[in-house]
Amino acid sequence: MSTLRERYLAMDGATVIQDITTMNPIKQQLIEKCKEHCSYSYSPYSNFAVGASLLLESGEIIGGSNQENASYPLCICAEKTALAAASSFYPNTGILSIAVTAFKKGEFVEDPISPCGSCRQFIAEYAQRYQQPLEIIMYGTNFTVSIDSIYKLLPFSFEAKDFQ
Ligand SMILES: [Zn+2]
Repeated sequence: MSTLRERYLAMDGATVIQDITTMNPIKQQLIEKCKEHCSYSYSPYSNFAVGASLLLESGEIIGGSNQENASYPLCICAEKTALAAASSFYPNTGILSIAVTAFKKGEFVEDPISPCGSCRQFIAEYAQRYQQPLEIIMYGTNFTVSIDSIYKLLPFSFEAKDFQ
C-alpha cells in the first residue's frame, strides 16, 4: 500500500513540494491565507477547521472557511464559501488557484486534504466559467501538493454543455 505522498508523486499533473518557501511568493501568501482562514472556521461539531483561499487574476486573494450547522446536512465546505465570496465580490475576475488545508487537535493536518467530491464539481464550474484550469494546492505539514488542474481531480464533471 503506497503512501499518499507516493500516490501524488505518481500522479499526472501533481507536484509534491517539501518546502513551501521554495514556492513562488504569491503561492506562499495563498497558503498562508488558507491557514489563517482555518481560525475563522465555524466547526463546533466536527472540530475539523478547514480553510481555503483563492488567487484571482487581479492578484487579489480571497479566503473562506467551513461553516457547520446543527442540522448537519447544511454544513458548507471552506472551498465553497471562498468561491461564493469571490464570485459575489468580484464576479468578473477569473480564479487561477485554490489552496486548502485543515486544522485539528491543535495543529495543521500532516498529510494534505483534498476537496470533497461536491467541492470538485463546484470548483470545476468556475474553471469552466473563467476558462482556467484552476490549480489546486493542498497544504500539509508533511508535504504540500499542487495539482495543475481541477480536471485532474474530476475528469468527468457535469458541465453547462450537458444541458444542450
Ligand atoms: Zn467540500
